[in-house]
Amino acid sequence: MRIYIGPDSATKRQFIFEQMNRGGEVTVITPEQSTLAYESQMIRMLDLPGMIDVQVTSLSHIRNTLSRDIFTPEQEAIGEIGKKMLYRDILDELGPRLRIFRNIDQPGFYEELEATIDRLMRDGVGSEVFSELLEEQSPDSLVYQKLADLQLIYQRFDERMTGEYFDLEQSLALFEREGHRFRLFSPEEVWLVDFKHFDDASLRMLRKISAHTKRVCIALAYEADKPWIYQVTSDTLGLLVDTFSAEVIEIKTDDTSIRRLAEGLVALDPSPIEAPLRVFAAEDVYEEVEFIGLDILQKLRLDETLRLEDIRLIAADLESYEFTIKSVFSQLGLPVFSDDRKSIVRNRIIKSILALMNIYLAGYRREDVISFLKGYLSESDWDDLDRWENYVIERGINFKRFREPMADEAMEALRQRFLGPVLSGESFYKQRRTIGAFCDGLRELLILLQYPERIEQTVKIYEERGETEEMLIITQVWNSLIDALSQLKKVAGHKEVSFRQYKRLFDSAIKDLNVGIIPPVEGRITLATLHRSTHAPCRVLYFCGMAEGVVPRDYLDTGLLKHKEKYRIKEFGYRYFDTPEFNENLDVLDQFIALSMVEDELIFTYAGGNYTSETMTPSLYINRGLGISGAEVERGLQRHYQEHPDTAFRYAVEAIREGRRELIHQLSDHELHLIEQALINPVITPPVDRRGKKVSASASRLERFRRCPYSYFVRYDLKPVIRREFRVEAFDIGDLYHLLIQQALEAYHEKRLMRQSIPAFIDRLMDTVLSMEQYERFSHTAASRYFIERAKRVATFVIGVLIDQIERSEFVPTYFEKTIQVGLDKFDLRGKIDRIDVKDNRFTVIDYKTGSKTFDLNSIYQGIDLQLTLYADAFKAEQAMEPAGLFYFNIKDPILDEAKDRDKELRLSGIKAGDISGLETTEGPSFYPSEHISDEMMEKLTKRVRRLSQSYVDRIEAGDIAIRPIRMNYLACDYCDFGAICRFDRLRQGFSEEMIEKLKKDDIYERLMEEETE
Ligand code: SF4
Repeated sequence: MRIYIGPDSATKRQFIFEQMNRGGEVTVITPEQSTLAYESQMIRMLDLPGMIDVQVTSLSHIRNTLSRDIFTPEQEAIGEIGKKMLYRDILDELGPRLRIFRNIDQPGFYEELEATIDRLMRDGVGSEVFSELLEEQSPDSLVYQKLADLQLIYQRFDERMTGEYFDLEQSLALFEREGHRFRLFSPEEVWLVDFKHFDDASLRMLRKISAHTKRVCIALAYEADKPWIYQVTSDTLGLLVDTFSAEVIEIKTDDTSIRRLAEGLVALDPSPIEAPLRVFAAEDVYEEVEFIGLDILQKLRLDETLRLEDIRLIAADLESYEFTIKSVFSQLGLPVFSDDRKSIVRNRIIKSILALMNIYLAGYRREDVISFLKGYLSESDWDDLDRWENYVIERGINFKRFREPMADEAMEALRQRFLGPVLSGESFYKQRRTIGAFCDGLRELLILLQYPERIEQTVKIYEERGETEEMLIITQVWNSLIDALSQLKKVAGHKEVSFRQYKRLFDSAIKDLNVGIIPPVEGRITLATLHRSTHAPCRVLYFCGMAEGVVPRDYLDTGLLKHKEKYRIKEFGYRYFDTPEFNENLDVLDQFIALSMVEDELIFTYAGGNYTSETMTPSLYINRGLGISGAEVERGLQRHYQEHPDTAFRYAVEAIREGRRELIHQLSDHELHLIEQALINPVITPPVDRRGKKVSASASRLERFRRCPYSYFVRYDLKPVIRREFRVEAFDIGDLYHLLIQQALEAYHEKRLMRQSIPAFIDRLMDTVLSMEQYERFSHTAASRYFIERAKRVATFVIGVLIDQIERSEFVPTYFEKTIQVGLDKFDLRGKIDRIDVKDNRFTVIDYKTGSKTFDLNSIYQGIDLQLTLYADAFKAEQAMEPAGLFYFNIKDPILDEAKDRDKELRLSGIKAGDISGLETTEGPSFYPSEHISDEMMEKLTKRVRRLSQSYVDRIEAGDIAIRPIRMNYLACDYCDFGAICRFDRLRQGFSEEMIEKLKKDDIYERLMEEETE
């Protein structure tokens, strides 16, 4: 055996690859996760057309091939899913004997359990270790109970594996006995690369390989003079030399400044080094990734010899960064390959299958139906799906209503097309009782729904688009799923479960399944993680997300075995590796290797805030790097934005908006001028010509215009379709109250309703209302039903109050929901008045409100609140009567408001006018407000409102669409849905709010008196 030591470098790898490729059959063994990357690296570095005599494999692959494919019938092999199932089965079986882990179903528990026992097994630590640990604990303690449980589980797992399946020990024993007979590795030459340590299982295999191979070579990253970096491999080297009497050969590599820097980062007392290190501090993750992408573009532009495959990107927390990196790089046109295995549950096909099972389980819940269709339908159906989704959301269609025909013909056709197969596959879970039967059923269902054909189509689409990575992944995902079903059936097929339990098992079984593909040899930037990836030589390395707690990572003491217990296992004399100290040493070595293989430049980046807006502290390696190399922190994209037209444009907008006086590259003077004009004068000409058209207006339309002309423009000219989600809370409950109150008061007015029968009347009325099509869906959910009960209670109470008010007044409710229509010059006013009470030639206007709106004289004076005044004016013109008052009545919940002053709360808000005799008798507390103005003042107020309304109409016609929200005690934008369209920004030049003066009522009257009478 030969061991090649020396730093892991491009020189060393080149040397090793050349040794392997001298001709003759060679087996290269790498850790499981490195085989694909290693093969790709070798092809690239030696510029090979492919691998012919060199076979790259892993120890576990060799073992599995022998155990599963050669010796053991297929049904007895067990994979990851099978093991997980076995643990569940064992915990069920041990149930009453367990003290801590009985009936446990926490997320991640089985994964943790499997990892803990698997680690012990691979390191050759048997279940007897728990006896030693237990001796040190008090039998009453929780720790004792936990360890005792773990011991029981481990023992039982061992027994079950030995009795029923091929376990690690058996496969090792088989390999030791028979491994040499089946050419699983070359008898001429075997290389072991990328290993940093060998666990017990690997060591046993290595002994066997060594005994039957002419030459075994091991490449080990190790330098004797840097013990603080090579702690892990130093122990490994000692062990190999002692065990195999190996010859150690040192491969010298020239030192580089980057390697010295990488060394300095983890050294106790590093010396200054002039190294090509840059550090970029971003405000957030997006800016950080954008910087990296633009910096790459800049480098590629300036250095023609640099190729994409010369660049690597490491993200310590790949899970958080991957999405942003992929989307930003795709915008910048940079191809990137993620050298990581992908969890299959993130795949849309798998998501759709999980949603499909949920549909049957939860009875067609809307989220499940939509989620299923999004994964199941092909891209050509997405527009239809979008419209259909809007329809079902707007109509509140949920649960069993997906089984019923839809009123709209086109939507019904889509329902049948989308859900037909799902409905016909419903029987899949019925009449099934065992895991095996459910597995068979699910397989049949997927065939019925033509999943295999869909996968084939999708593969073709990816192929046509040249999206090879996606194409390979989707095929693997499907194969993994089918394998998962076989494993489930194999290990626990006989077990009786409900459909719900089966779904849980299935979720848990596939949760950790992931797929990986061979990294492309060229034409891509590689995105890798620090800890799981195989590091490779490159010219430029970006190391992003360098935050405290991430690099170096924190080792939290949260596992099933605590740190203290792990150290004790080691102290008992086992070669047990899973200690925080070992993992930390391994991380140091991984990081050193990743950085030291960089030839040209290292760039560290970090963001001040993460995705959840938490403030992030830079990693200690950032400060060390700066200290050692003397590099300065770079910030902002000033030197980079011009690398891409999109970023250049955004940069220019930002700079002009903030008034920064700097030279902007990439954009012409004319383009800059246009941006400036757009920012300074955001008011643009309306795209619609309203001139010559008679404006059909309601008070609420004019009020919207007053609050913000742009909001009017969006609402009535652009007419965006707002996706309205049907929920009782979101429904305008005011409509329902209006209907109940109107009908009850009409019945009372016509003497069909007595006070004592109000509750029964409301009950009957509500039943009738709920049977109407537009209200019927209110009775679908428990929340809706609660809402209905509450509405009945409120309506009963409020109607009682209103009858009190009517009985104490000589004004008689005469008009309900009275339609008003007034034709003025270029202006038609339409609307409805909830109630008009009449006495002789005087009338009062009453409007019911469900919100908190109350009468505000200043809002009327300022032309913001027009409704009551305009409608009273129209009624006056129609009936030749005089108004005696304008009032709002707020519909309130008597229970919610019981703590308040009830009478005060239920009083009408508004203003009385002129002769009000008979408005109310003097007994009891008053229902009416105290404010009382003369007919003359009412006339002046009305005229002002009319004049203002006409002015709005003129401005609407003239095309005023200014973005100018009003501000009183609120900002109009606070109640507007169109912020994303207008992009109103108070800080931006050219945008302003209209401040509304707050006037006291006496000032208002004074001003009204001063206004000229028309
Ligand atoms: S968000 Fe504000 S500025 Fe924009 S349209 Fe609405 S009210 Fe006007």
